[in-house]
Amino acid sequence: MAVATLRDEAVGLLQELLRVNTVNPPGNETIAAELLRDYLEGSGVSCELFAREPERANLVARIPGRGEGPSLLLLSHTDTVVADPDEWTVDPWSGELEDGCVWGRGALDMKGHVAAAATAIATLAREGFEPAGDLVFAATADEEVGVDVGLSWLCRAHPETISTDYCVNEGGGERVGLGGRNVYLCTTAEKVSAPFRLKVHGRSGHASMPAIADNALVRAARLIERAAELVQPPRLIPEIEALLARLGEVPQPSELGQVVAGLPPDVRQMVEPMLGFAISPTIISASERTNVIPGLCEVVCDCRLLPGDTPADVEPALRAALGDDSYDLEWIEAVGGTRSPLVTPLWDAIESFVVESDPGADVVPVVAPGFTDSHFLREAFGTVAYGFFPMRTMDPELAARLIHSADERIAVEDLELGVRFLRHVAATLGR
Ligand SMILES: [Zn+2]
Repeated sequence: MAVATLRDEAVGLLQELLRVNTVNPPGNETIAAELLRDYLEGSGVSCELFAREPERANLVARIPGRGEGPSLLLLSHTDTVVADPDEWTVDPWSGELEDGCVWGRGALDMKGHVAAAATAIATLAREGFEPAGDLVFAATADEEVGVDVGLSWLCRAHPETISTDYCVNEGGGERVGLGGRNVYLCTTAEKVSAPFRLKVHGRSGHASMPAIADNALVRAARLIERAAELVQPPRLIPEIEALLARLGEVPQPSELGQVVAGLPPDVRQMVEPMLGFAISPTIISASERTNVIPGLCEVVCDCRLLPGDTPADVEPALRAALGDDSYDLEWIEAVGGTRSPLVTPLWDAIESFVVESDPGADVVPVVAPGFTDSHFLREAFGTVAYGFFPMRTMDPELAARLIHSADERIAVEDLELGVRFLRHVAATLGR
């Protein structure tokens, strides 16, 4: 298939996807699922819709494998966050093609990737591609909010349709200059989201006479500072060891702090959040009245742990930092923190694409500070899931600003690169 045709096909499909409003809530992803089903069935790809709620269907399409090799899932989601047309220079649901970009809510997160993956599997099907293992395309609902009608539900209700050996999902693929080289970031793991609540105790009283009370809010202020300033000694996890190895050399654990301090600023900025946990106090509540000194103050802190760590692993350091004060510490939940191995055929397929399409560039593993739907697959099936959608035309800082923001758009060049990448991975693993 000629390259220009791939590009036109992906652009046209993306424009159609952007013109259907799938802002979540309410989502209404069924319209996107049906649009994709019509397109894929027109290319001979068999499709099924699975819906826990009729308006919120998930689409799963498949080219059955020969039963001789690993299965691969191209995963994406069709819902988007909201858009305020007043902030946009174009209609967010116009799918306008302008300045070499396709504009609209979800162009980057992630209808562009949806369109690229659908184009990849449709064109492979039309070429008569018979993969070694099943090639699966899933466009799921409800990634942005998470009320259990999307991939989490699909993994429980229809595991056989969605369980594969490998998966390519969102959450990586940007090309950045790092230590003087061009590298593509491939997300292979994510941090654990483990927020906690501090209930700080004092004694209430009338605010006109502070001396008779013990102000829990004032006590909390001290604890907030200690929590926010807590820094763990840096720890070298496998993902960062591999990243540093590709950029230069791997430091000895005892020299890690020193080596990180000496890294070029851009590399250090990228590496530092992946060396330990991060705590951000975000919510506080105390007295509801001006004249009442609070006897109780509650503080909620966002907390991100390294993959594989649990709250119990960091609690001693946290308590030591908070010191002897009158508080209760409650962990609210712990979500994510999964990782996939780094030495896999999927990694090789990504690397070979990067080397062929961008000579001199390299690919490095990174740990996402937040998480994507990949963690459901890793937890349910042990799927090797990476976040990778190559992007080299749009500046990664601009892309990061546009996601969930006004004037979201994807460069047509990057959309086409994504189609070629997904076709390459499918063809390489499915050989
Ligand atoms: Zn997304």
